[in-house]
Amino acid sequence: MIDVTDVSKSYGPVEALRGITFHVAAGEIVGLLGPNGAGKTTAMKILTGYLQPDEGTVTVNGLDVLTHTRQVQAQIGYLPETAPLYPELSVQGYLKMMAELRQIPEDEQRDCLSQAVYATGLEDHLTRPIGQLSKGFRQRVGLAQAILHRPRLLILDEPTIGLDPTQVVEIRRLIRRLAQHTTVLFSTHILSEVEALCDRVIILINGRIKADARLSELSATPDAVLVLDKAPAGVFKALRGLNGVRGVEQVQTPDGYPTYRLLGEMGNGADLCPAIYELVKERGWPLRELRREVRTLETVFNELATAA
Ligand code: ATP
Repeated sequence: MIDVTDVSKSYGPVEALRGITFHVAAGEIVGLLGPNGAGKTTAMKILTGYLQPDEGTVTVNGLDVLTHTRQVQAQIGYLPETAPLYPELSVQGYLKMMAELRQIPEDEQRDCLSQAVYATGLEDHLTRPIGQLSKGFRQRVGLAQAILHRPRLLILDEPTIGLDPTQVVEIRRLIRRLAQHTTVLFSTHILSEVEALCDRVIILINGRIKADARLSELSATPDAVLVLDKAPAGVFKALRGLNGVRGVEQVQTPDGYPTYRLLGEMGNGADLCPAIYELVKERGWPLRELRREVRTLETVFNELATAA
């Protein structure tokens, strides 16, 4: 659905994007995660044809954004970081105006409007001026205008920024619902947003892609944690003797059960748990817990940010 190849963009001396390349397949929901100033908004403006890259190409559904801007924009629903809503217009009046601007044929407008209003839960607010709505409801109006023309791709720039926790939950629920029928690329600087909404993340730092992976891949480590009821004799030696184990550490835990972290070989991706389980069974050790160690997205992000 989206192919971005070697895209760079500078504003004078500021290199906002430095040769980014990524792909989003139809039906995916992908988070573009990065700190302030990472280049997220710049990337989204380029994807939607509102800004030209200095170098590189972007295609949406096979069409080059630079040469087929109108056709591409017709397939995209875009929620900019600050949606240009008109406070004095009613919700209905605004959406009608957007339908006209999007050149939705007169006989389809009523259906498009009611579907967008229904999808975003705005039925009871149609006649209210946008300026009188809460921030969360204004964001719904922004989303309603983005889906009005039934786009195949939704591009959402920081969709929950500035909302209170209840509104954040509602907007995320709404995005998940919309994503059932549409490809979604959204940007955020909030780690939990990515975890709540998608399973693939592209991490952008200083205009460069530092990671592009499924959350499960990012959080996986080669290590395992074993918790026993009682510490058996010779446990360290036996664990260290397992294939692929490069070290064993005892971990202090509040409940006091003997807990061991087994360090696996970096990079070979092998799961130590089956071999550990076999050993535990063979020795008759009293097993409480055995799991693969995972890193939080926060740890991953901090490591990447520090290395940037
Ligand atoms: P935020 O999360 O704060 O919105 P972002 O990841 O969306 O940040 P961008 O807004 O794309 O990042 O900005 C990337 C870099 O480009 C920043 O250093 C920013 O100051 C700079 N920049 C963005 N727009 C302009 C502009 N119109 N003129 C000059 N510099 C700009």
